[in-house]
Amino acid sequence: MLIHEHSKPGRIGAPQAPVVKADISDIPEQFVRKERARLPEVSELQAVRHYTRLSKKNFSIDTHFYPLGSCTMKYNPRACNSLAMLPGFLSRHPLTPDRYSQGFLACMYELQSMLCNAMGMAAFSLAPMAGAQGEFAGIKMISAYHKANKDDARKEVLVPDAAHGTNPATATMCGFTVKEIPTLDNGDVNLDALRQATGPQTAALMLTNPSTLGVFERQIEKIAAIVHEAGGLLYYDGANLNAILGKIRPGDMGFDVIHTNLHKTFSTPHGGGGPGSGAVGVAARLEPFLPLPLISKENNQYRSLTGQDAPQSIGYLSAFMGNAGVLLRAYIYMRLLGKTGMERVAEFATLNANYMMAEAKRRGFQLAIPERRASHEFIITLKKEASELHVTAMDFAKRLLDLGYHAPTTYFPLLVPECLLIEPTESEAKEVLDGFMDALEQIREEAKTDPELVTTAPHTLPVQRLDEVSAARNLDLAWKTERHPG
Ligand SMILES: *Cc1c(COP(=O)(O)O)cnc(C)c1O
Repeated sequence: MLIHEHSKPGRIGAPQAPVVKADISDIPEQFVRKERARLPEVSELQAVRHYTRLSKKNFSIDTHFYPLGSCTMKYNPRACNSLAMLPGFLSRHPLTPDRYSQGFLACMYELQSMLCNAMGMAAFSLAPMAGAQGEFAGIKMISAYHKANKDDARKEVLVPDAAHGTNPATATMCGFTVKEIPTLDNGDVNLDALRQATGPQTAALMLTNPSTLGVFERQIEKIAAIVHEAGGLLYYDGANLNAILGKIRPGDMGFDVIHTNLHKTFSTPHGGGGPGSGAVGVAARLEPFLPLPLISKENNQYRSLTGQDAPQSIGYLSAFMGNAGVLLRAYIYMRLLGKTGMERVAEFATLNANYMMAEAKRRGFQLAIPERRASHEFIITLKKEASELHVTAMDFAKRLLDLGYHAPTTYFPLLVPECLLIEPTESEAKEVLDGFMDALEQIREEAKTDPELVTTAPHTLPVQRLDEVSAARNLDLAWKTERHPG
């Protein structure tokens, strides 16, 4: 039920503080509303109940297990949130001069340095506001680097077929041609194909390691050598660092440019397109191209660098300092964890994933890459269930919702048919992981005894199974009085 449907003329919430009439004298006449806005007329208690009920319909990390592979929906400590929301941070205007923003700038400066240390890069910019924007900044820097070297023939970006869709999209947006590199059945990059594809036309290779197949690329040093010897650069998609945090560093693997999603690994809840950060780090030779603003420290004063300080910079990606709240959460998270804490993130993220993978195998589910250890995530393929029982990965995903679990990532990576990409994260207890595996087993049993229960799920949610194409193409969320008269 919509709040408008609770509305009764004249019903109001009594003001509990003096009402100050807004001064609208500055607003040009043609923009001033002639009729009263059609707001719902409800009592305060009705409004409270309405929104509380709605909030309880959400699947959220605060209420449910959310094993969303690649994307990481992990628990974000409350302290990060409350400290990032201290009044001094919240009420700081983005145009405040640097000399009155020293505390905030100090946090940003230290965050840049901590990211450099944790990733093994020479410099970091906090400007990008999403993973995809970080990739855009990274490939723009690579493009600027080759241009500065008058190396104009490099028109191609290599992307393994296991990559996140944003990788080829980014390369294309930056004006490169994308060449796909095949992956072996064991999850590693096909080195022969890579050697053949690499040459004087290669601008860069974009790689995710551990890959979205949930395994660590063991030949990374060879890969780096092949690309570097051909004069190309190595781009690291570090959207999700949970498996390697504190253990190994992309810089040490040979990567020249990296983005990391602070909203996946470093304590900002995300989903639904909420605020993010795709901070970018570079090796020393790419430092001049980093996007602005960058925070420097000179004579104990923090300062935002501008185009005058960094004439080769690819420029600004937004009006101000990226998503400041996300950056603060990441800063506090890293300070809370320290080096030991970060190592434990990687240890528990991989332990949980490997435990679940072993459980999946024990319970007779088919693993996508059974011979490999999992990173922070792993894949099961429901190919057999689909052909023998006629229930798909999507049916499993929908039925999981009835059983109180958010669905894992489905049908990604595209290489594995009928797949579920499962990422338990470091913060879940063993009982939760067991409960989820029980649920998968229960669904497989239901598929044998009562398949319709599975293929028509979910049954317990406010919205049942949607026509996904219409839901995506003809999404209509507007409430109009003409359509709901009376
Ligand atoms: C999430 C993700 C991205 C994109 O990040 P956004 O913040 O959603 O733009 C890129 N690569 C990988 C591997 C990801 O998991």
